[in-house]
Amino acid sequence: MPNKNILKIMKILKSHYSSTDKTTLNRMRKNPDAFKILISCLLSLRTQDKNTEIASRRLFEVADTPEEILKLPVKKLEKLIFSSGHYKKKARTLKHVSEIILKDYNGKVPDTREELMSIKGIGPKTANIVLAFAYGKNVLPIDTHCHRIPNRLGWVKTKTPESTELELGKILPKKYWKDFNAIFVQFGKEICVPISPKCSICPINEYCSKIGVKKRR
Ligand code: SF4
Repeated sequence: MPNKNILKIMKILKSHYSSTDKTTLNRMRKNPDAFKILISCLLSLRTQDKNTEIASRRLFEVADTPEEILKLPVKKLEKLIFSSGHYKKKARTLKHVSEIILKDYNGKVPDTREELMSIKGIGPKTANIVLAFAYGKNVLPIDTHCHRIPNRLGWVKTKTPESTELELGKILPKKYWKDFNAIFVQFGKEICVPISPKCSICPINEYCSKIGVKKRR
């Protein structure tokens, strides 16, 4: 039996956040280019959105196709994506992903989870972002916010984003899947932040179990 508060909570959050589509990746949904979405997602790992934005913009001014990224000297690529952090590792991943997409997929980003995840460097979150944002598929991309908040709400009791995706998939009505990531990322950045969430001004305070929340504002 699905948690009866899910519908209420989704309705409230949708009214607050559906139009605040601010993150770099979410903004790219409006003009989907699967390769650029994939590359931005890889750049966004373990960094803040503002850094992803700078690195993506600088890189795409010079190279925004697998061929162009492969042609870039590694040092130049590292310099272009420096602001995203872990730039040496990310440069290697970008080169590898571009090579496989060019060689094995004729330059087109694959549109199945299995194929995407068979490429070294692409994990479940990145695969789902590409499937949802570039190809409009009904999947649940789970990042740190999308993992933390459903656990606090008491919707799921999970230790990893992968198990959150699995458990959430069982209880969240499919009509909310498309917007779930955009809504929860914004909500997680503004109100239900990782440390000391702002419960006193939270629009879903009365429905939240606050599991694991020790300090709140
Ligand atoms: S009440 Fe607090 S813990 Fe619950 S969703 Fe809102 S901010 Fe997060």
